[in-house]
Amino acid sequence: MDVRNCKRCKKLFDFNGSSLCPACEKEMEDKFLEVRKYIMDNPTATMPTVAEENEVPIQQIKKWIKEERLSFTKASGMSISCEKCGRAILTGRYCSECKKSVTNTFSALYAEPEVVREKKKAENAKMRFLNS
Ligand SMILES: [Zn+2]
Ligand SMILES: [Zn+2]
Repeated sequence: MDVRNCKRCKKLFDFNGSSLCPACEKEMEDKFLEVRKYIMDNPTATMPTVAEENEVPIQQIKKWIKEERLSFTKASGMSISCEKCGRAILTGRYCSECKKSVTNTFSALYAEPEVVREKKKAENAKMRFLNS
C-alpha cells in the first residue's frame, strides 16, 4: 500500500493519485465552487484579490486555470501565458492555436528536443508579428 503525506494537512493517507487526502480534496472542491462563483460575481477581480477574498493560494487558482476548470474574464484584465508560444490566454495551458498542434502531436511533444521547440517558438513569434 502506497501511503503519502497530504500536501495540505500533512496527514497520512492511502495514495490515490492525488497529492491531497480525501478530506482536503473535498474541501478544495468546495473552495473551487466558491472561487468559481466569486469570479462570476466579481468578473473584474484580479487573481490576488480572488486569492485573498477566498483564502486560496494563488498557486491553487493557477492550477485550476491550467486544468481549464476556471477561467479569467476579459474584464479582469488578467491572463496567463500559453506554455508554448507565450501568448496571453484566459484559461488552460495553451492558446487555441497551440492546443490544436498540441493535440495533434501530443505524444511527440515531450520527445521533441529543446532546440526544435525553441525554433518553433521563434517561428510562432514571427507569425504573430505577421498576423498583427
Ligand atoms: Zn489533507
Ligand atoms: Zn500558444
